[in-house]
Amino acid sequence: MPELPEVETVVRGLRAAGLEGAGIRDVLVQWPGTVAGATPAAFIRSLRGCRICRLTRRAKYIVAELDNHRHLLVHLRMTGQFRIEPPATVLDAHDRLVLILDDGRQVHFHDTRKFGRFQLVADPRQHLSALGPEPLTDEFTVDVLRRQLSGRRRRIKPLLLDQTCIAGIGNIYADESLWLARIHPLRRADTLTRTEINRLHQAIRTVLAKGVAAEGTTLGHGATNFYSVAGRRGRNADALQVFRRTGESCPRCGHIIARLVVGQRGTHICPQCQPGRKH
Ligand SMILES: [Zn+2]
Repeated sequence: MPELPEVETVVRGLRAAGLEGAGIRDVLVQWPGTVAGATPAAFIRSLRGCRICRLTRRAKYIVAELDNHRHLLVHLRMTGQFRIEPPATVLDAHDRLVLILDDGRQVHFHDTRKFGRFQLVADPRQHLSALGPEPLTDEFTVDVLRRQLSGRRRRIKPLLLDQTCIAGIGNIYADESLWLARIHPLRRADTLTRTEINRLHQAIRTVLAKGVAAEGTTLGHGATNFYSVAGRRGRNADALQVFRRTGESCPRCGHIIARLVVGQRGTHICPQCQPGRKH
């Protein structure tokens, strides 16, 4: 599932393709479930003739600010991908929604699993205000992280995945951050020491920034994996230290990397660097 670095890569790819400033001539909804909060017909009516003013990211949402004072929120969920195609490109079976631009180019939303969603909203804050701080912005200080974790009895890994705690972290970057910070994923958040929280803060920023710089993580070679708008693989997979490296050696201490399940998610740790739960 695309996480902060992958969604950021998609936003940058859409900008690079010139979508900021582009007009939307028409919209095709091939799978009605892709549209949330309105009927496909109403969605198409509202979007046709609009211009995209600005593209940004908030957590794992792509936010397109339109010239009619509305915002289009897009969530890629499991397998959503954008591709920019020339005019009159024939759709494939997994293209769920298409924006036809004024210049004839087609923005295809390709989504094998069909969980991706498009929603038009008047006030994005209503939909996004519950999300936690953006970990790569200046607002995400170590004090902010300490506040987000204080008094929380939950295990640290599920809490990192909770978008209301910190925005944009998913399974890959949670495992990598906890390994880098040398914290066991089952530690209760309210038992982390100041030193550990400092390390975790630094680790989250390091791991996510590396992911963005490498244009995301593409695991394996299936078509449903992450690809940028330009169709490129993210280069971060080789830089992963523990994620899906069960049985390999920890790059820090040489101990064998183990897999456990935390909150139904496959979780990868170095049992030596990330000593067991204390609570
Ligand atoms: Zn280790």
